[in-house]
Amino acid sequence: MNELPALDDRRCTGCGDCVTVCPTQCLELAGRLPWMPRPKDCVSCTLCVAVCPADALRMAPPPPA
Ligand code: SF4
Ligand code: SF4
Repeated sequence: MNELPALDDRRCTGCGDCVTVCPTQCLELAGRLPWMPRPKDCVSCTLCVAVCPADALRMAPPPPA
C-alpha cells in the first residue's frame, strides 16, 4: 500500500479542512480529530497534508496490517 497521512493529534485543531479537501472521501471527523475509515480509498495525493493549517499531517508508511 502507498503512504497514508498520519496525524499528530497534539497539533490538530479539528478544523476539518483535510476532510473537505480529500478527493476520495477517505477521511472523516470523529469528534475533534480526523481519522481514516476508508484507507483503501486513499490515493496518496498529499492534498490533506498540504491544506492542513496546523502542520498536523505527514505522509507515512501504512501501519502493519
Ligand atoms: S492523501 Fe489524498 S486521498 Fe489520501 S487522505 Fe489525503 S487527501 Fe485523501
Ligand atoms: S486539516 Fe489539519 S488541523 Fe484541520 S482537522 Fe485536518 S489534521 Fe486537523
